[in-house]
Formats: sequence, C-alpha cells, structure tokens
Amino acid sequence: MVVVGGGTAGWIAAAVLANEFAEGELVIELVESEEIGTIGVGESTIPPFLELLKNLKIDERDFIQKTQASFKLGIEFVDWHTKGERYFHPFGHITAGMDEYMFYNLWIKSYLNGEHYAIQDFCASSVMARHNKFFLPQSAQNTPIAESRYALHLDAKLVAQYLREYAEARGVIRTEGRVERVEQNDDGSIAGVKLQNGTQVAGDFFIDCTGFHALLTEKTLHVDFVDWTHYLPCDRAVVVQTKNAGEILPYTRATAQDFGWSWRIPLQSRTGNGYVYASEYCSDEEARKTLLNAVDGELLTEPRVIPYRTGVRQQIWTQNCLALGLASGFIEPLESTAIHLVVRGMVHFMRHFPDREISSAFIDEYNRRMTVDYEEIRDFIVLHYCLTDREDTEFWRWCKNMELPESLSRIIDYFKVQGNVPEVLDPLFHPVSWRSVCEGMAVRPRKYSALIESTNYDEAKQHFDKYKIMLEEFIQKLPSCSEFVSKNCPAKVS
Ligand SMILES: Cc1cc2nc3c(=O)[nH]c(=O)nc-3n(C[C@H](O)[C@H](O)[C@H](O)COP(=O)(O)OP(=O)(O)OC[C@H]3O[C@@H](n4cnc5c(N)ncnc54)[C@H](O)[C@@H]3O)c2cc1C
Repeated sequence: MVVVGGGTAGWIAAAVLANEFAEGELVIELVESEEIGTIGVGESTIPPFLELLKNLKIDERDFIQKTQASFKLGIEFVDWHTKGERYFHPFGHITAGMDEYMFYNLWIKSYLNGEHYAIQDFCASSVMARHNKFFLPQSAQNTPIAESRYALHLDAKLVAQYLREYAEARGVIRTEGRVERVEQNDDGSIAGVKLQNGTQVAGDFFIDCTGFHALLTEKTLHVDFVDWTHYLPCDRAVVVQTKNAGEILPYTRATAQDFGWSWRIPLQSRTGNGYVYASEYCSDEEARKTLLNAVDGELLTEPRVIPYRTGVRQQIWTQNCLALGLASGFIEPLESTAIHLVVRGMVHFMRHFPDREISSAFIDEYNRRMTVDYEEIRDFIVLHYCLTDREDTEFWRWCKNMELPESLSRIIDYFKVQGNVPEVLDPLFHPVSWRSVCEGMAVRPRKYSALIESTNYDEAKQHFDKYKIMLEEFIQKLPSCSEFVSKNCPAKVS
C-alpha cells in the first residue's frame, strides 16, 4: 500500500492503516516531498475528529499538548444575516433537560405565542462559549453541561508530525522525494511512482494524498472534477498567523466580509486567520487588506494566498487508486469539514478494504457514499449564504438570490413547516445544526407538532425560566478556557 503525500490526509491514512494491520501484515509506504511541503492550513475540527484519536488509541491530552491545540465548542457567525447580528452554531444537543423533540416544539410554541426565549440560552456549549468557559463534558456527567460536545483547534503542521511519529513507530516506511513520474500498468491502473532522485516505489494500491496537485487522480488517471463554484463562488483564501491577543476563545469565529468571510482560530500558541473570498468580486490585494484589518494580534507570518476550486471528483476511488483529502475534492472551510472528510474517506475505505481483486461493486458503493457526504456538506454550507438578508455588496446580492441545489431547496421547504430535517442515514449535520443555523439566519418553522398539544405549556414555561437560570449559574462557576488549558493540558514545546 503506497500513500503518496504527507499532509494531514497522508498521515491520517498511514496512521489508520498502521493501527489496523499488525506490523509486517501489510507493507505501508508513504512518499512525501519536504521541498513541496503541505498546505499548512486546516486547523479547526469538528467532534468526530476525537473519535479518530480514540480509535487510534491516542491519548487526547498528549495530542492536545503536542499540537498546541485548544478547545472548540462551535462556531460564532458574525454579520451573516445582516450586519451587526451574530449567532452560534454549537456542538452537542439543545434539550433544556427534556426530550429534544419535545423541547424544540415547545420552544416553537413559545415564539408563536410571542415569547422571546433565545434557543441558544438552553444549550450548554453556546452558553459556555458566550462566557468563554470550558470544561470536559465527560468529566461532568449528571450536570447540565454533560450534553455539550467539543472539538479541537490545532496546528496542522504539528498534527502531521504527531501522526508521522505514530505511523513510523508502527512500521510505516517514509520515503522522501518529489514524484517525477507516475507509472501505469497496461490496464491504466497505477504501477508505481518514480522520484526525482531515481527511487522507484511500486505497489498494489495507492492513496493519492497529494493535495490540490492530485498527481495520481487528476494528472495520471484524468478523473473529472464536478465543479460547484456556481453554488459556492468563493475560490481563494488569504491566510496569516498572529500572536494571541487576550484569552483563548473556545470557538471558531466566522465573520462575513464584503466578498466572503474571515476566520479566526485560536490555538494555545497563536491564532490562525484567513479570509475566504470570491475572486470574481475581490482582488487579492483587497482581500489582503480586509484580512489585515480583521486580525488583532501581531503578525507572525506574511499573508499567503491559496487558490482553490470547490467541488468533488467524479470518482474518488478509481481502479487501484483512492483520492483522499484535497486530492478528492474541497468545500470551503466554513464548517471545518475537510479533515472530517479525510477521516470518513478512511472509515469507508476500511469497510471496503480491497484484496488483490478489487471489486467494482465496492468501488461504486464507496464513491456513492462519499458523494453523499460531500453533497450533504455542500448543502449545509450553501444554507449559510443563501439565507442572508444582506444586499450591501454585489457578492451578498448574488448569495441572496442564488439558485439552490434542488436537495437543499427541499430541506428548507420541509424545515419551514415544523422545524424538521429529512432523515438520512448517518448524517454529519443533525437537526440541531440545521435549527441553529436557520434560527441564526431568521428562518423559523410555521407551526409546532400536534404531539405537544396535550403538554402543559405554563409548566413548560416555568421549566424554561428555571433551566435558563440554572444553566447560566452553573457555567459561570466553570474555569475560563485559558485557565482550563493551562491547568490540564498546557502545550509541550519540543
Ligand atoms: C484555506 C483553507 C482553509 C482550510 N481550513 C480547514 C479547517 O479549518 N478545517 C479542516 O478540517 N480543513 C480545512 N482545510 C482543509 C485542510 O487543509 C485539508 O483537508 C488537509 O490539510 C489535508 O490536506 P492534504 O493532506 O490533502 O494536502 P496537503 O497538505 O497539500 O499535502 C499534500 C502532500 O502531498 C505532497 N506532494 C504533492 N506533490 C508531490 C510530489 N510531486 N511528490 C511528492 N509529494 C508530493 C506534499 O509534499 C504534501 O506532503 C482548509 C483548506 C484550505 C485551502
């Protein structure tokens, strides 16, 4: 098994394989070029990333300390609906200590009755984020924050380094060098790669983790790219790192700008910043200025522009080659989903792990399943743009009037009835996510479920009032995120 590329995708692939197979059972070789380097961004994750660490039997605390990581309770969206408004998309549940469906429908009833309960006041992750607090939910069972969830903000380069050490310790062979040529068998499948220094690396199966170069998938196998720029027109990002200014915030901030949005990702050691923009409306220079105006701390790097294309490969797995990470496709990082897609790519691959005879039924099912994941994420990202009420720039006017993917139109129409989301198998975004974004973007269901008609509404209101106060008081006593990190998992600088 040959993994070509050693960014986050390459080393996740190598680590998953090394964990799955005993040393010697499968020869795993990873080729990477230090001269080319990695993309060096990808620092905000979502909760399933912690499952990866668990499956690899990696100690979470050790990982946090060595990757300068900090905690993330969700994403704060600023200026997306109209300038001056903000909302929070939290991880975890919103239940107010009740059945989630019951709570949500009672909450719909409350606003239809003219009461003004903010839904995020009932969410532990949102209230913790608002007060810049953090505590591990697994260490707070039987408390109101037990239903919160978290992910990590991490240093992409240190993650690759950590996983490299992990994989090499389990027998993965790392070969340094720039791939100069990809050799093919008579049937077109990949036979091997030839490096600039003359080394030949042959294998039965290849994982293309060469990032946007897509050396095997695109340059060799010529797999088409399904372009989604007509749904998501941002096609560039300018990125810069800054010193931390003040406390570490336990969330990613995504601020809508004139022609896209900027992010702020606080790590223990520094802050990652970027501006994702549409080059049709905004020049690189203008984007650079917007980003530099938006950052707080002292600059640690020079701003760097990264062009990209939104979409997915027509086939992510072709013959004996699997595309993983940026080589397989890319959707802008608004909900921090790219590393998750790498992990999903490996989870599905392990379920269809090929023997010498590669089944086309496995390839087809893998491609179908990954496309479902990509489309779900695409629709969820488009949701953030299309519900805007902004008309202050050509970019936002376009977003407000854009043509939606048919799948998303259906979800929005269905949501507007009673706040439900169509059920799908193994979704990434659960109803709580759709409800949080729709509420933040001022889209509300027209009615509540008849199933709550017999519930005593006055009692429910009393419960809401008490619960809100209890949650707030509980969270006020928790440590700040900075305090929690420095006490429990301060960065280890190697
Ligand atoms: C602007 C931006 C922001 C992002 N933010 C997030 C985020 O917040 N959260 C998130 O989950 N994801 C994010 N991502 C995505 C994330 O960065 C990637 O999914 C992740 O880093 C995986 O990248 P990769 O390993 O596929 O590619 P890369 O990091 O580019 O690695 C490619 C590897 O291939 C090697 N290579 C290439 N060509 C050759 C060759 N000829 N010979 C030998 N080796 C070669 C390189 O040396 C390198 O090792 C973001 C992406 C962008 C563009």
